[in-house]
Amino acid sequence: MDKKTTFSDLQLNNWIIRQCATIGVKSPTPIQSNCIPQILEGKDCIGAAKTGSGKTLAFALPIIQKLCEDPYGIFALILTPTRELAYQIADQFAVIGKPMNLRHCVIVGGMDMVEQGIQLSKRPHVVVATPGRLADHLDSCKTFTLSKIKFVVLDEADRLLSGQFDQQIQTIFKNLPKNRQNLFFSATITDTLEKLKGISNKDFYHYEAPSIS
Ligand code: ADP
Ligand code: MG
Repeated sequence: MDKKTTFSDLQLNNWIIRQCATIGVKSPTPIQSNCIPQILEGKDCIGAAKTGSGKTLAFALPIIQKLCEDPYGIFALILTPTRELAYQIADQFAVIGKPMNLRHCVIVGGMDMVEQGIQLSKRPHVVVATPGRLADHLDSCKTFTLSKIKFVVLDEADRLLSGQFDQQIQTIFKNLPKNRQNLFFSATITDTLEKLKGISNKDFYHYEAPSIS
């Protein structure tokens, strides 16, 4: 009989597991149990599962664990198509990363550019951004560098790669170091798979949740 996977089976640190429990997250969802070990091993990853299946923690937990080992420079960049999603993702990083004083900032349109520039210059560990506003910062006088990035996440990758954000994403990726982990998460992914393969030159782990019909 199969034993249900636990967060400790996935080699996550105890303090991370405890933080998850504070928000009622006690055992991993399928996308989490499949992707977290692969991400911790250093693999690029494409994960597809429907909305509400826990994709945010599937990337946030292993990123936070790796961040503890090497908290130098802007460590992870999370791109997402909307402001609302950016704030939701940032909230989850804030809650789980609280014991390690994780510093994050949210870079989205409609907020003051100068204030955002100041936040970016304070060496946040995690930047959660919509592509347009981050590209604006990279095109203007930069107060920060993305050259130390270890992880880039495309959340809602199908929407980010549907064409609308192409130019901004190109600007952003030109500023990223080659040696980084690429993590792509989406509800649907098949149409964009070829584009994703172009971005990641390494072999990537591909998880697709079985669809329930
Ligand atoms: P998705 O990005 O796949 O649409 P989210 O990552 O936004 O989904 O997660 C949806 C909700 O499920 C959030 O409120 C999150 O805290 C919760 N959640 C995530 N993982 C788990 C888990 N393993 N157990 C219980 N709840 C979870
Ligand atoms: Mg999501």
